[in-house]
Amino acid sequence: MGYIKFLGTAGARFVMITQLRASGGMWFSIDGVEILVDPGPGCLVRAVKSRPKLSPGKLDGIFLSHKHLDHSCDINLMIEAMTEGGHKKKGIVLAPYDALENDPVILKYCRDFPEKVEVIREKGEYTVKSLTFEIPLRHRHGVETYGFKLKNGKVPVIGYISDTSFFEELIDGYRGSEILIINTVLYEKKEGVDHLSLPEAEIIIREIKPKKAILTHFGMTMLRNRIWEKEKEISDRTGVDVIVANDGMKFEF
Ligand SMILES: [Zn+2]
Repeated sequence: MGYIKFLGTAGARFVMITQLRASGGMWFSIDGVEILVDPGPGCLVRAVKSRPKLSPGKLDGIFLSHKHLDHSCDINLMIEAMTEGGHKKKGIVLAPYDALENDPVILKYCRDFPEKVEVIREKGEYTVKSLTFEIPLRHRHGVETYGFKLKNGKVPVIGYISDTSFFEELIDGYRGSEILIINTVLYEKKEGVDHLSLPEAEIIIREIKPKKAILTHFGMTMLRNRIWEKEKEISDRTGVDVIVANDGMKFEF
């Protein structure tokens, strides 16, 4: 079936730059299709040091939700690694326009290495082998940002809510997710910060009712409040089985 390996669970700048949590993003393996999501700093190192090792040469695609460095730092490196140093034209890179054309984080010399570099847009659908990425809506974040609903008809629908502030439309956008990953940076709601807080993530979980919700991408306040000890209370409050991700966690389905 598949798994998601968390190569990092750091969210936002301070946890990333201090490396209190690693920041390598997530590796999805679904029915033999290998996808990397948001390769932040350390992604390559974390992948090859995983046990069992994750070989970047096996990747079929890379999804970038937005260009902030905690999501994109290793993307050029991972494109090179996916394509065996640019010698093997393969794989699909999905990224917002903003990450490709406006102060781009994906270097132009790397863009010929993959089979295709596709610009993702709201309500778009993109295919990597047997997987379909549906992009529900544009997030509200400092730069152009999207999450996805990932489907192949055989495994549970996986929703990924990347960085965003809270707004009602997120709920309908990600409805139908059976496994829902939410970047939950803040322990408490903070005005003027374009990241989700735990209470807002709980609203989304209660409304969508996935089979499993996975919280990741933690900021400092989540770590100070020892979020890893709160799985049961969050699950009780939401009525959904909630997992608090940790570095290196492998979630199988
Ligand atoms: Zn961001």
